[in-house]
Amino acid sequence: ATEIRLAARPHGVPTSANFDIVDTEIPVPGAGQLLVRNVFMSVDPAMRGRMNDAKSYAPPFAVGETMGGGAVGEVVESTVDAFKPGDHVLHQLGWRTHAVVDATKVVKVDGSLAPLSTYLGVLGMPGLTAYAGLLVTAEFKPGDTVFVSGAAGAVGSLVGQLAKLKGAKRVIGSAGSAEKVRHLVEDLGFDAAFNYKDGPVAQQLAEAAPEGIDVYFDNVGGEHLEAAIASMNLHGRITVCGMISQYNATEATPAPRNLVQIIAKRLTIRGMLVLDHWSLQQQFVSEVAPLVASGEIKYSETVVDGIRNAPEAFLGLLSGANTGKMLVRLS
Ligand code: NDP
Repeated sequence: ATEIRLAARPHGVPTSANFDIVDTEIPVPGAGQLLVRNVFMSVDPAMRGRMNDAKSYAPPFAVGETMGGGAVGEVVESTVDAFKPGDHVLHQLGWRTHAVVDATKVVKVDGSLAPLSTYLGVLGMPGLTAYAGLLVTAEFKPGDTVFVSGAAGAVGSLVGQLAKLKGAKRVIGSAGSAEKVRHLVEDLGFDAAFNYKDGPVAQQLAEAAPEGIDVYFDNVGGEHLEAAIASMNLHGRITVCGMISQYNATEATPAPRNLVQIIAKRLTIRGMLVLDHWSLQQQFVSEVAPLVASGEIKYSETVVDGIRNAPEAFLGLLSGANTGKMLVRLS
């Protein structure tokens, strides 16, 4: 078995030196536990936060500790009647080839209903984040013009497509390369998209949304948030889902400088955490899985092979190497 441990806390942008790749014995399940051979593991932006020694909604990884996160695997050994070898399960002990998990902490998944990888992506946590963040947090309604940043990523790509399918007047996305911008417009049906590296975000957004925006789904923060506030229409709503532009910051970053506009525009700015919305998971899957199966919703995955390349996959995620969900295939 092989696992990845946090070797040292990063200061700023993490590097491979922050991770230890360790070969271990295959662990043995105790009563009530399963031995799972992981097939896919997720790397997520939130893991960057857990590498810091800072209090947040998820506890920090300890230095020397095996990292964790979403994974889908095959049950190899079970001490519990409800699970048999060959079953597939979703659980939270990623970053390792083999996991011993409590049976109470896994969810059975069915690879014949949808590819196993999708339980970590479009039909999993990022998918629910997009669904709840758009429909609940932002109170999206037909006729809204929606802007989403990080639009070619796992969350953002679904936000834009859901908004289109549910009757948005116009959907605009930003991403970090010309190829991603092309993908948003030509493959995913966004009305407009721009590369935030090409010039000031405020100017590019204003050109893409000449009549302003009603909803901003923020995955990036910083300059993007300031630009969105400037383009917001009266009674606009902002879902603050992520601020990836700040996760590697080593000092306090300047706030949007135009917060005063919140008053006259009567804006609502709301943070959201997907873990408050698990009660919507069934509704989300029954609504979105058929749209994925029919191809009305498209999803991409960027798959890196091998546990030893998991750190590289994670570092790539932070620098935009992925289109859609970034995953590591372990077997
Ligand atoms: P993505 O698949 O979107 O991958 C991250 C992307 O962020 C990269 O591909 C890169 O794309 C972009 N990025 C990196 N640095 C910057 C930067 N400085 N400025 C702009 N874009 C940048 O990840 P997820 O879909 O998993 O997550 C998207 C966001 O949602 C993150 O902020 C994450 O923290 C948040 N999130 C929040 C949850 C919650 O409960 N609140 C749950 C899940 C995710 P590019 O090439 O375009 O730069």
